[in-house]
Amino acid sequence: MTAALDESLRSDLAAMEKAGTLKAFRHITGPMDTEVTMAEKTGRVLVLSSNNYLGLADHPEVVAAGKKALDDYGAGTASVRFICGTFSIHDQIEKALARLSHTESALTYVSCWTANTGLIPAVAGADDVLVSDELNHASLIDGCRGAKAKRLVYKHSDMNDLEAKLAEAKGARRIFVVTDGVFSMEGDIAKLPEIAALAHKFDASIILDDSHGVGVMGKHGRGTAEHYGLEGQIDIVTGTLGKALGGAAGGYVAGSKTLVDYLQQVSRPQLFSNALPATIAASAMKAIDVLEHEQGRVEHLHAITRKMRDGLKARGFKPLEGESAIVPIIVGDTAFAIRMSRELLAEGIFITGFGYPVVPEGTARLRIQMCAALTDAQIDFALATFEKVGRKLGVI
Ligand SMILES: *Cc1c(COP(=O)(O)O)cnc(C)c1O
Repeated sequence: MTAALDESLRSDLAAMEKAGTLKAFRHITGPMDTEVTMAEKTGRVLVLSSNNYLGLADHPEVVAAGKKALDDYGAGTASVRFICGTFSIHDQIEKALARLSHTESALTYVSCWTANTGLIPAVAGADDVLVSDELNHASLIDGCRGAKAKRLVYKHSDMNDLEAKLAEAKGARRIFVVTDGVFSMEGDIAKLPEIAALAHKFDASIILDDSHGVGVMGKHGRGTAEHYGLEGQIDIVTGTLGKALGGAAGGYVAGSKTLVDYLQQVSRPQLFSNALPATIAASAMKAIDVLEHEQGRVEHLHAITRKMRDGLKARGFKPLEGESAIVPIIVGDTAFAIRMSRELLAEGIFITGFGYPVVPEGTARLRIQMCAALTDAQIDFALATFEKVGRKLGVI
């Protein structure tokens, strides 16, 4: 039986290999930073592929806070939150996350994946409708699929289609518009003011997953709502602690106190799965503290992202337009994107190529992600290397 299963799985893997879409894991042998050491390559490698937007993954105070929490709380509670699984650090970080999100309350999960799949089925039942952007993150899609509610998918950021779907949803008990703040593969941002106006018109609530927006968007890095001046006006915000806010893991739902009270009672991961580890909660708390007190980081991130975009354009690349710290360069087919990524690694740059089925066929891309800790010299090196490899492969 096992042998037959393995053989069947092997043939699926062989098909991926033949299509050139097999993903190769790279192994990092030290902390995540702008430069890392890797098992696959001698010397240091520049990383342009991490969600470590604020450069806090190895920040000394973020690391120290995690170590201290290990001493203060031990490894964990060996319990789910409602039995004997809530530490005081959970209350503290949930207060900080509510402050950051401009909401009354917040609730942590072990990841944003868990937050989305724990939230959506809990609030959207059989009498309700979920109206969801077609390019939403997989965890929002799975959250919607796991709900008993009717699902309507609108064309990416197409406000006419959103309005049509909302009209179709009319009469439902609850209607939700579900969207990413920053779309991870395109780097573009949701049209939140229009979405908010339509949600208002149709009595719908907004679920905004701002995993790529927090720490990046807005003057103070509080996210896509801050970018648009809509803080405090989004019903439900979800996010991750695994990107700008420390980069380990963890996620949250931020919203009204009533929503959080309700999720504590019925959200299945809250009831049946252990809490966010205290070490991660403490590191992420420190990351929020740094974000709130070191304004220069966000400003620097914005400035160097502009520098990277302008530099790429000056060299003949055509990065997708956008305002986030994600700068995708479309190169065509999947195998080519993977090849370009391999060539860049040989030159000392670690950047992943994405292809089908993560993005639509024919739009494979290299996704540059900026980090506030990058120096001007590192960006100059990256641009020169992109130019060298781009010319060699005929991209420019
Ligand atoms: C990365 C990401 C997630 C998943 O976050 P985890 O905390 O790693 O589970 C969820 N939603 C969006 C939009 C993301 O970009």
